[in-house]
Amino acid sequence: MTNSMGDRIRRIVILGGGTAGWMTAAALSKTLARDVSITLLESDDIGTVGVGEATIPTIHWFNDLIGLDEEDFVRVTKASFKLGIEFVDWTRAGSRYLHPFGTYGVPGSGLPFHQRWLKARNDGLERPLRDFSLASQLAQQNRFAKPVSDPRSILSTLGYAWHFDASLYAGYLRSLCTRRGVTRVEGRMANVERDGETGRVSALTTDKQERLEGELFIDCSGFRALLIAAELGSGFEDWSHWLLCDRAAAVPCERVAETTPFTRSTARTAGWQWRIPLQHRTGNGYVYSSAHISDDEAAATLLAHLDGAALAEPRLLQFKAGRRKTVWSKNVVAIGLASGFLEPLESTSIHLIQSGIAKLLSLFPDRHVDPALARRFNLLFEADMDNIKDFLILHYHANERVGEPLWDHCRTMPIPDTLQARIDDYRRSGRLMLGSDDLFRDASWLAVLNGQDVVAEGFTPLADRLDAQVNREQLEQLAQLIERAAPTLPAHDTVIQQILARQPVEALAAAG
Ligand code: FAD
Repeated sequence: MTNSMGDRIRRIVILGGGTAGWMTAAALSKTLARDVSITLLESDDIGTVGVGEATIPTIHWFNDLIGLDEEDFVRVTKASFKLGIEFVDWTRAGSRYLHPFGTYGVPGSGLPFHQRWLKARNDGLERPLRDFSLASQLAQQNRFAKPVSDPRSILSTLGYAWHFDASLYAGYLRSLCTRRGVTRVEGRMANVERDGETGRVSALTTDKQERLEGELFIDCSGFRALLIAAELGSGFEDWSHWLLCDRAAAVPCERVAETTPFTRSTARTAGWQWRIPLQHRTGNGYVYSSAHISDDEAAATLLAHLDGAALAEPRLLQFKAGRRKTVWSKNVVAIGLASGFLEPLESTSIHLIQSGIAKLLSLFPDRHVDPALARRFNLLFEADMDNIKDFLILHYHANERVGEPLWDHCRTMPIPDTLQARIDDYRRSGRLMLGSDDLFRDASWLAVLNGQDVVAEGFTPLADRLDAQVNREQLEQLAQLIERAAPTLPAHDTVIQQILARQPVEALAAAG
């Protein structure tokens, strides 16, 4: 008999206190009854990966779940707002486009907006797709506004996420969790105890001889994947033949200019460089393929392309693109880097953490840990990773950087069939063929396809019924509306300063 009160899980152990561990602890401590004990083991000696500062709009789901106040969060984590990612030099030297959050155009006519745009282009409209994205216009002007829910307002087409200081975020979550009763244990995991009959993990012991018993174990141990791989033997599906970058040099620098409301990704000979603006500093990193550049050269290239003075020595990180074949095995669920890694090109790792948490909550087991739940979790995770992988490969593949070995390889390599089919469909008919579970939706695929010169040669026959002149005029009016609206919205720095000037919620509560 399952599902009786007596079968409920009462003790959960989380191994690892990086972003994944503390996000998981925050979500579980908020959603489970108070009589479920949550213990988190982390090692100060080992530390965390310490990067991961750019997010995508799905982060709102998580922050709402844990009951986080947005303005508090912006103050404490020294966050800035993010309207999208600017890609510089990806197609060829001198190219530039924004992958905006939110949508292009406005809904109407029962057709995807971009089909109306393709038809209008065919009928002589010369406006590029970016003219129909308010986020793109705001980003260009360093302005920011939040979306509104009224679909009649052009502001309803916006979407946003944040850049934040990863160590401040982890600290914020940690104090939230400890206030909610999560027990933090400091020490190194020394041993894993397994049940002789079921093979399930029953306890972790630490180098300080503490014994942490549980019925459910969450592996957030980072790239080491100590429970899911080292203990339970989950294999790794290697994608490094498509995603060749395997190292990053990361360094913060002084901020010198206005805070841009977007991440910048600049293609370089052996990879690409990120620029993430925060209130107090700018984060930078060169993600590169070690087969195409030495570590010293990569660090020198990074340092030569900073806005301001470096605030530390460059830090080297190593990784491999791919995913664990099984991320839920027996009573162990891997979340975060322990489950696999896709490079930070589209800021998807924190999303994958929260998506793992969401799946765990909806499939939360009892102490019998029904294997059907694990099978479902693994299937959904596989689909998530596969979709994101294809989207990342598109960035590398659709390039004209002829004569640079990494880029020549990526342009000419065989790509996954699923991605090839999507590119072919788009070229033929402008159709995107997205699945309902795809993380990246129309605007994202359109931004990268168009930004990297993958051009649709046709459009849906349904657009033929549109009157050519009316359609063109409506689109022209929309582009002009966006052009007029953008300069009326506040500067990004003004929005941040207004938040900083307001009293923190906790201070208000204390005063009240
Ligand atoms: P970690 O931070 O490595 O934490 C592992 C934890 O396990 C630590 O607390 C450690 O002490 C503990 N641990 C390990 N072994 C033991 C042991 N034996 N005993 C006890 N404790 C142990 N993501 C984004 O969303 N956006 C980005 O912009 C982004 N940029 C990135 C750039 C780079 C170069 C890299 C490599 C990653 C980036 N990521 C990004 C990913 C992001 O950093 C991670 O997803 C996030 O930090 C979560 O890491 P984690 O908690 O899984 O692992």
